[in-house]
Amino acid sequence: MVMVFYNIPIKKYQRILLIEGEEIDAAECIRRENEENNVYIFWKDDNTYIDASSTEKIKYINHGCNCNCYIDEDESGNLVLIASRDIEAGEELTIDYGYEEIYEECSCKSCDNKLESAA
Ligand SMILES: [Zn+2]
Repeated sequence: MVMVFYNIPIKKYQRILLIEGEEIDAAECIRRENEENNVYIFWKDDNTYIDASSTEKIKYINHGCNCNCYIDEDESGNLVLIASRDIEAGEELTIDYGYEEIYEECSCKSCDNKLESAA
């Protein structure tokens, strides 16, 4: 499994990575998810999604149940990856993928809880 990590410590709320990709609307997002199995699409606002499947690093960030990163929007409206806590050098970067299938695949307590609250 490929993992993403940095050789330097990252501070809480530090911006780690700009998420670049193609801007698409909701209908196109659904089409790509269903027909192309594309799971690298990030929600931006009501009808705007970012398809980051061409951004190598983002693709390799694994789902983490107690993740140390999250996606947010910066002042310019770009999606960025932010540290949700202090991260040590060499620690794997993870985000919560935030969809039901990933919680079903994972059997940890945290995902069980999320699945229950989504049901
Ligand atoms: Zn889990």
